[in-house]
Amino acid sequence: MDGRTIERAIRRLLALLYDEPTVLREACELLTQYRGYAAVAITYLLPEGELELVAAAGPGAALAPHALQTGVRDRSVVVRAGEPAFEPWREAALRLGIVAAASLPLYVAERLAGALTAYAAAEHAFGADELELLTEMAQAVGRAVEAVRMRLLLAESAVYSNSPLRRMETLWRLSSAADADVEHQAETILAEGARTLGFDAAAVERAQGDGVTVLWAAPHDADPNPEFRTVATVPIPCSAGAYVLRFRASAGALRQDAGDCGMYGALLAGLCGRLLERLEAQRARLALIATDPVAGLANRDRFMQTLEHAVLDPRLRAEGMSVMLVDVDRFDDLRLAYGDEEQERTLRTFADRIRGIVGGHAHVAYLARAEFAVAVSGPPERGEQLARVLGEAIALPFVAGGSETRCTASIGVALFPADGSSPEGLLEAAGAALVRAQHEGGALVRFFNEEAGSALRLRRAMLQGLRFAVQRDEFELHYQPTIDLAQRRVTTVEALLRWRDPRYGLRLPADFIETAEESEAVLPIDEWVMREAAHRSQVLVSGARRLRLSFNVSGSAVAHAGTLPLLAAVLRDEGADPSTLELELSERVAARDVAAARRLVDGAHDLGLRVALDDFGAGNASLGIVKRLPVDSIKIDSVFVRELPHSAVDAAIVRAAITLAKSLDRRVVAEGVESEEAAQWLAAEGCEAAQGYWFSPPLPQKEFLSWLSMHG
Ligand code: C2E
Ligand code: MG
Ligand code: MG
Repeated sequence: MDGRTIERAIRRLLALLYDEPTVLREACELLTQYRGYAAVAITYLLPEGELELVAAAGPGAALAPHALQTGVRDRSVVVRAGEPAFEPWREAALRLGIVAAASLPLYVAERLAGALTAYAAAEHAFGADELELLTEMAQAVGRAVEAVRMRLLLAESAVYSNSPLRRMETLWRLSSAADADVEHQAETILAEGARTLGFDAAAVERAQGDGVTVLWAAPHDADPNPEFRTVATVPIPCSAGAYVLRFRASAGALRQDAGDCGMYGALLAGLCGRLLERLEAQRARLALIATDPVAGLANRDRFMQTLEHAVLDPRLRAEGMSVMLVDVDRFDDLRLAYGDEEQERTLRTFADRIRGIVGGHAHVAYLARAEFAVAVSGPPERGEQLARVLGEAIALPFVAGGSETRCTASIGVALFPADGSSPEGLLEAAGAALVRAQHEGGALVRFFNEEAGSALRLRRAMLQGLRFAVQRDEFELHYQPTIDLAQRRVTTVEALLRWRDPRYGLRLPADFIETAEESEAVLPIDEWVMREAAHRSQVLVSGARRLRLSFNVSGSAVAHAGTLPLLAAVLRDEGADPSTLELELSERVAARDVAAARRLVDGAHDLGLRVALDDFGAGNASLGIVKRLPVDSIKIDSVFVRELPHSAVDAAIVRAAITLAKSLDRRVVAEGVESEEAAQWLAAEGCEAAQGYWFSPPLPQKEFLSWLSMHG
């Protein structure tokens, strides 16, 4: 399958899942991302001959209204800077770095319906190959639009009135009904959808660390019922976060195959994605709230309204939220010293500083006198950090009465849901914490619940511990084999990091890597892992065969310019044979900065290492990433593998990933294989290798070597 075939497949899928505007928008976004255009826009030709811009994406999308200038024709047109056709939008274009545009006709049902226009930063961006590709893209978009319209037509027709498709269509309409209660819509859709597919219950869930949060469930009380078991899990396509749709059935009524879930399951997941996005949009709208004339911020009423919505949002309940009161210390002294006007001006300065820091990331309100309220979603750390930064910002000098002066602020923080579940309760708790901060002398941040404060201190202590863990030799590597599925023998061994924390015992990376990554502490850890892996790889043999050792690096290492030179130095120091080493780069990290990831992959190759793309599919990256990173192998993430071969959706995803990897000539490894059944299914599907508890869990070196002598 080549890149274009994949694109086409994706477009067909989109046509199934979405409505017309979404298909058009996604097409523009995909093209911008995939081909690196400054912007891509789609224009429709209206019956009266007028043009209408219907979708646009890309950093240069601000230019989109000018896209109309290139017109709609029945052939492709390229316009470059300097040519007369470029003149009308030259200035705007150049400001956005755009120097050329190519416009392709868009045909829907064989009629000229509009144009797809791509804007590029390079004058020669539109060579013959590129134009051919764009033409194909425009054709694919046309077909997708046709498919969407056809689906609507079919669903209208009486023939389909009783089919699942028809019911799906009803649900689709429900999901797009504006101004309705999203929660209620979701429950109806889940209940109806589960019934249509023959399951007893359905839920929308979000993975949260090790656990899951149920956002919506239908029927209401189905979830805790132990009689129900999961029959299928479908990822929800949605920009608001990583959610899944889980279908459940009672053990007795369990259908033998969840196969039918495939297309309709995906459709239903698409609808849930829309609702989630709608919820997100509603929240964003809430942010545009009325403002207080003095400080230019929301007032108390608006803030309370925001909190009222927030405390009802299950997502926030899971994510957490910090509500804080910020009070400028000894504010009245200002008035006494400089008068009312100056005091008010200062207040505005503080409001500006607070607003500048918070930006769109939190809700801010001006309550009274010199008191502000701030609500920010996320873990307590986020609240604490924001509180600290706000405190520092207020402490910056300002000019009053012609001379420089300073104020400090006391800040009280309450955590939702731990410290209160009503807006009033939360503000009261924050108030109590504020009073404590003031009593302790001001210029302080205090938490309502000191234990929460101490959890933060624990984290800080962990970071402290991590900083010295390398010197104190507290890290070790555990080893897990990758098995060649055809020959059933070990091919590669993965080195997995463990921390023997003197206070807590053996800790897994999930426990500490993220904390380490937030600080410089991760760099020495990366170095230790590289060194240890390079060292160990030299003695890793099975019989007469040398085995390759793979190791993981942190996200910070990818972006860090020193990583490659360090790797080279480590190889030299250890006298390691680079061909016995493989570097694992997780998709999530790679997607964050593909250019940096590419440099790391190329650099590792230059040094003679192999490179694997880890956790493939879990990072929400676009498929294009595989094409942009010339890795040697792809490790399919365990979430898609664990339930094989019983989950039809997972099976479809894994099959597609295998096909994709093969077409690009990459080795495929499945992670998280926990049964012989899964191993056999994977082998039959052409997956080359697998890793998982079924073969062996990660083991300390000594145990691993003895395992290897028996199984290698
Ligand atoms: P990963 O690289 O994808 O490693 C595979 C993880 O899956 C390991 O978790 C392994 O214990 C687990 N696993 C193996 N077989 C199965 C199975 O059959 N079922 C299930 N459910 N899980 C299985 P571990 O060791 O806790 O590591 C977690 C992640 O931490 C790794 O994911 C990797 O991203 C990161 N990590 C591990 N070692 C290092 C390191 O040295 N440096 C950095 N920066 N990150 C590391
Ligand atoms: Mg790995
Ligand atoms: Mg992995």
